Amino acid sequence: MIEMVIETEGLKKEIVSELLNLGVCDKCTLRYLGVKDPVVYRNTASIKTILGGLSKKEDDDDVADVDIDNEEGTGLPPAKLLKCNPCAACLGLLQSCVEESFLDHIADDIKKAGIESSSYAPVLTLPISLQIRAQSIWFHLIDKFPQVYKSLQYMKPEGISMKTVWKWISTMDLKQKVDSKSEWMTNGDLVINMFLQYKDEDPECLPMFKLLRQRNKRAELTRGAVEQMFHSMNIETFHTHFKCPPPIPTNQLVLDKLACSHMALFIAGRYCKYSRDVSQSPWLDLEGKRVRGEGSVQEYITEHVTPIFNCDTLRFSASGREDSDVRMLGKGRPFVVELINPKKTIFTPNRIKLLQKTINESTSLISVRDLQIVDKKAVTYLRDGELTKNKLYTALCKSDGREITAEMLQTLNETKTPIVLQQITPLRVLHRRSLITRPRSILELRAEPASNQSKDMFILHVKTEAGTYVKEFVHGDFGRTDPSISDLLGFPTEIMALDVTEVELDWPPEIKD
Ligand SMILES: [Zn+2]
Repeated sequence: MIEMVIETEGLKKEIVSELLNLGVCDKCTLRYLGVKDPVVYRNTASIKTILGGLSKKEDDDDVADVDIDNEEGTGLPPAKLLKCNPCAACLGLLQSCVEESFLDHIADDIKKAGIESSSYAPVLTLPISLQIRAQSIWFHLIDKFPQVYKSLQYMKPEGISMKTVWKWISTMDLKQKVDSKSEWMTNGDLVINMFLQYKDEDPECLPMFKLLRQRNKRAELTRGAVEQMFHSMNIETFHTHFKCPPPIPTNQLVLDKLACSHMALFIAGRYCKYSRDVSQSPWLDLEGKRVRGEGSVQEYITEHVTPIFNCDTLRFSASGREDSDVRMLGKGRPFVVELINPKKTIFTPNRIKLLQKTINESTSLISVRDLQIVDKKAVTYLRDGELTKNKLYTALCKSDGREITAEMLQTLNETKTPIVLQQITPLRVLHRRSLITRPRSILELRAEPASNQSKDMFILHVKTEAGTYVKEFVHGDFGRTDPSISDLLGFPTEIMALDVTEVELDWPPEIKD
């Protein structure tokens, strides 16, 4: 930022008294003097020193004549009857909106929302009148004190923004009122959206709205559109459309609404599935009713997660998926649940362990392990892993009736790996996948006699590259997968049952008991 140069005390005094005459409050006057020290804004004595005794006497009866609406009885914080006018620049944001009663009201609303958090991010949404007023004061200063402001004219009028100053003054107090151990920062987990309203917003914005509509018939009055408009506007044009300096306001900002929402939380783990009649996600009809199966992995997990975190909604994703008739064994498949706007957010590892126990005791069809709270980045890790991870399968295979001999198994076991397959999109998934030929590798292959004594069956262990269709690798899918086990053996082979025994993704980290 360009430094402001005010060469003499006399000149500074002139600027201060000009701003105060415009109805600008002490703190906004400091902003226009370029004061960047947060401590100063919190200290009335320092403010008075800098303003050199010209500071507004807010308890002076001489300036108590401005008529201000009393908001009492509206459910909104009572607008304190200012004995001086609301500031022409901040409309009271740095006056009544930093006072104890206002901050108490905010703190109560935050507590009422009942959302646990250890860090908070206050966000102010302000009326557009403030933007227009800031521009107006800025142009007035450039006009009146060119020796100081002319060289800064391309700087934003809000060089030291009122939002920033509001935070400098208020967050320490809010922290004490809400939770003295909490952290308050721009990337805090609990976002406190405060919407402030100004009674004269519409009339004050009307000239701007007209200007925008002249340029574009469908233009909306937005912060960005206004900023863009001012960017290309010179002082002369500004004067023809807006009052410069801005009029002294009679109404001040009031809190219209406060809304709290917590950043999403992510809980990860690995799941096993022991049933051949459970899908990964629910099969729903158009009305949202489940159409088949014994429920889904997603439901068995999330029905216990939702009440614990008390979240609005959630999103379940896993590192790939198995068909509903395929079991997921071994250490299981990594998954992550994104919890949207959770209200319970602070958990000890023991609490998560208990959640895992609850899920595991509720069903014998699935189980979870390594359940833990993870970072948002984990989701990308999971998705990337989906494209690169290898998987191990065990398949029960059946011949066309002929007996499986030791020689046949030997043929398979002596096949050189990796075997590179050309897989045309399988018929069974053609309705949801595009028709292409994918080269995929079988990295390891081992065949052994079936333990169930059936002479026409054998067991096949394979390790595959991500994205390989294993069922098709066995039967060949009418020649669409080449080569297949049927090709290698020289007779038709079917797949009777399939288990995933390992998903080679080293995430989430194992949790030792
Ligand atoms: Zn102000």
